[in-house]
Amino acid sequence: MEEFSPPTPPTPGKVYLVGAGPGDPGLITMRGKYLLERAEVLIYDYLASKNLLRYAPASAELVYAGKRGGLEHTHTQDEINQLLIEHARSGKMVVRLKGGDPFIFGRGGEEAEALHDAGIAFEVVPGVTSATAAATYAGIPITHRDYTASVSFLTGHEDPGKERSHIDWASLAACGGTLVVYMGIKNLPVIKGNLLKHGRAATTPVAVVRWASTPEQRTVVGTLADICDKVREAGIKPPALIIVGEVVGLREKIDWFEKRPLFGKRIAVTRTREQASELVAQLEEAGAECLEYPTIHVEPVESYELLDEEMERIHEYHWIVFTSLNGVRYFFERLFAKGLDARDLKGPSIAVIGKSTADLLRQYGLRANLVPEEYTAEGLAEALLDTGVGGRNILIARAKVAREILPETLRGAGAQVMVVPVYQNMPPPSARDALLANLEASRIDVITFTSSSTVKNFVDLVGAASHEELAKLLDGVGIAAIGPITGKTIASYGLTVNIQPEQYTIEGLVAALTAYYGNGDRSGPA
Ligand code: SAH
Repeated sequence: MEEFSPPTPPTPGKVYLVGAGPGDPGLITMRGKYLLERAEVLIYDYLASKNLLRYAPASAELVYAGKRGGLEHTHTQDEINQLLIEHARSGKMVVRLKGGDPFIFGRGGEEAEALHDAGIAFEVVPGVTSATAAATYAGIPITHRDYTASVSFLTGHEDPGKERSHIDWASLAACGGTLVVYMGIKNLPVIKGNLLKHGRAATTPVAVVRWASTPEQRTVVGTLADICDKVREAGIKPPALIIVGEVVGLREKIDWFEKRPLFGKRIAVTRTREQASELVAQLEEAGAECLEYPTIHVEPVESYELLDEEMERIHEYHWIVFTSLNGVRYFFERLFAKGLDARDLKGPSIAVIGKSTADLLRQYGLRANLVPEEYTAEGLAEALLDTGVGGRNILIARAKVAREILPETLRGAGAQVMVVPVYQNMPPPSARDALLANLEASRIDVITFTSSSTVKNFVDLVGAASHEELAKLLDGVGIAAIGPITGKTIASYGLTVNIQPEQYTIEGLVAALTAYYGNGDRSGPA
């Protein structure tokens, strides 16, 4: 018999202070992403890109720690320290995701000290700090052999009424190096005054960069003499960085991020299954911000009784037919749930609608016996008819609501057809509200349509009562169609197509958008 051993207490967890980078989710480190993917508790603040949260496991507990300058602290620093300690003590793997770099004006030092004092194990992962990112994304090399040999990072958050500053403005002004000021927007007049007072030239170039490395980046350039006015006129609010020094002048040549053809454009993409990710990827490469609206949402059917019955007598079938990827997925999910697998499908031949469906089927261990040349229901029906379906038993696993052309054609040719719904298409729950809110707030510049069904789905999604109402909703929004057939569908709803490529492909569509907006016309359709 085994010796009695007392229950082990939960191993104390560990806290990882992880730099999220400045905003662009692509700028997190590989180490940071690795840890995010394993987080049990994720505590994040407002500067950390929300797009990074999706890397955390679905089971992770997400805690917003707030913190932004001013009155909106949702947690005090002490409370955040306590949160870290408590979650770690309960045995959890805690990721504390912080904007930029944790140790650069991020109070990561305080958090690490508190963890040390509490005896909690921790690690720190550096991040791309917003100073270097803002400079890079504004086209400003913070050092350059011809202009400066030093760069200083400072906080502009000091209380201007404070008697003695911790910042040595005299030497900063005198050394002539590049200065990057965090949290300095409110105090910009004081900062400027200090530099001028200590002899930095009024003609020194200054850039202010807000939301650097995100689609919302804005940059204002001036000199120490006029930057305050320019920032006020442009309405620049935090978070923003101030970059002071001759290197700012290089932006004229090096600005690359804001010069991308679709920078600053918000493009709505109504999603069909296959194309959306490719379109979004290409638009984002061209600088656009994409808002994706899935118009369908796939769910299991309410009851699998019919499928279960047919699975019991699957060997009586001559053909199993899959008309979609989801048909394959949901069919096999149920098969496995019943404790069966591919071996139990011995007997019937298998027909699929196209190559990707055949590829997916292979992943489940089965080869398709028939793939039509034309990947449509009609093509599939024709190919099956060629095999001689009279008197054959055919099972079609498909969506609950679908076109009836395939079963009807097969029945017409004398086949015994059993249609088995294995999944259903439902309208996605939250897409409508988000879409309407964005349209009403004029947050969308262009909507892209890549097929007639994306147009129909979109119209269904917004649920406008009339063509007039639809036109009103889309007032001022550019409409892009991939080709003439899609264009015709758009016109049938009383809408005008603004952008349509000559080549009817995703690349063609992106090129047409780029040509439309890239030629200096940044205002959008009239
Ligand atoms: N640890 C962070 C800095 C936190 S202090 C880092 O390493 O970047 C908060 C300040 O950082 C903001 O007030 C702003 O000055 C700056 N900041 C952070 N992210 C920024 C961004 N994307 N664009 C411009 N400034 C940013």
